[in-house]
Amino acid sequence: MTTWNDELNRLSLEGMRRSLLTIENGQGPEVEIDGQLKLLLCSNNYLGLADHPALVAASIVATRQYGVGSGASRLVSGTLRPHQEFEERLAAFKGTQSALLFNSGYAANTGVLQGLFGPNDLIFSDSLNHASIIDGCKLSKARVLVYPHNDMDCLEALMHQERSTRKGRWVIVTDGVFSMDGDFAVLPKLCELKERFEALLMVDDAHGTGAWGDKGRGLGEHFGCLDKIDLHMGTLGKALGCSGAYLAADRDIIDVLINRSRSFIFSTSLPPSVPASAISAIELVEGSEGHKLRQKLHQNRKVFTKCLIDGGIDILGSPSQIVPIITGEPKPTMLITQRLFQKGIFLQGIRPPTVPAGKCRLRATLMASHLPDELIKAAQQILTVVREVLG
Ligand SMILES: *Cc1c(COP(=O)(O)O)cnc(C)c1O
Repeated sequence: MTTWNDELNRLSLEGMRRSLLTIENGQGPEVEIDGQLKLLLCSNNYLGLADHPALVAASIVATRQYGVGSGASRLVSGTLRPHQEFEERLAAFKGTQSALLFNSGYAANTGVLQGLFGPNDLIFSDSLNHASIIDGCKLSKARVLVYPHNDMDCLEALMHQERSTRKGRWVIVTDGVFSMDGDFAVLPKLCELKERFEALLMVDDAHGTGAWGDKGRGLGEHFGCLDKIDLHMGTLGKALGCSGAYLAADRDIIDVLINRSRSFIFSTSLPPSVPASAISAIELVEGSEGHKLRQKLHQNRKVFTKCLIDGGIDILGSPSQIVPIITGEPKPTMLITQRLFQKGIFLQGIRPPTVPAGKCRLRATLMASHLPDELIKAAQQILTVVREVLG
């Protein structure tokens, strides 16, 4: 029998070993690692809210008032006023009847799919959906049909083909902004299909909420179809700078989840300071400061991607703040990551199973708090190192 150590050595040989890096300060554009400052290019703190004074203040006020821990799961005694107020605020933000707070995006996707769908139901799932959606599909025990990434013709054909033997509920589930390629789901077409075939549409807006749409309401607002989405899933740990996640939907759907969703029921609720700071994040995102931060984020995105594209890098045409820099195989990818790190740029390499084999990449993420000049300099360094390693 192989030992754990053999397994780890094999991972190292294949360039597939993963390990943790510790940051000494917060998620600002400059992070301290091993006593050195690095430009942070791999955080999802898109608007720089993770250390925003308004959020920090809201967190401290709630901690003083309610304490650090919530004491129990939501259905027992772990629903405190900030949890309830957050859900009301979030539902108003997304324009739904109701909303439910989950402890993380992973818990939300697994808990929502498991809680709402069962063996009679059919889930249509994009091939590049987040791992938490894939796991949620498995937990639901529903039949799952995976359609090729963003291939609307194929999805339509599948739905057409399945129609005659339809039994239970149908749901189409998709990332809004895809977490590894940075491209968008074709929401207008998905809305059309879900209406035509009487299916539900579930959108995981982890990377859209806060970052896209005039008021930061997410990719649905960006495409003008927010009100067509049935199940709005999103996370609080990315553009909103906090932690946790939500599902916004009709009242009955939320009540079913309160009764059936295992990740919701069997887990101590988030500390009350988290929904308290998330309320403050929503206020900020909807208002003029959020608007300015989004403008900065998108300016930074344009500056950075132009440098890379002009330098001949394949970024898969990403239109978003997630910029994949395709490098191919694990070993060269990690070598590029190491060399950039030595030059003061912190940019993680992404390998299977997070992305398909042969599609390793550096996944750069932009923040409103970056300065355009430092991004231009970083893009030039990336071009240099990628050429050195890949030739
Ligand atoms: C990050 C992410 C999640 C998981 O959210 P956490 O709060 O980090 O658990 C789910 N879906 C997508 C698309 C994500 O990018």
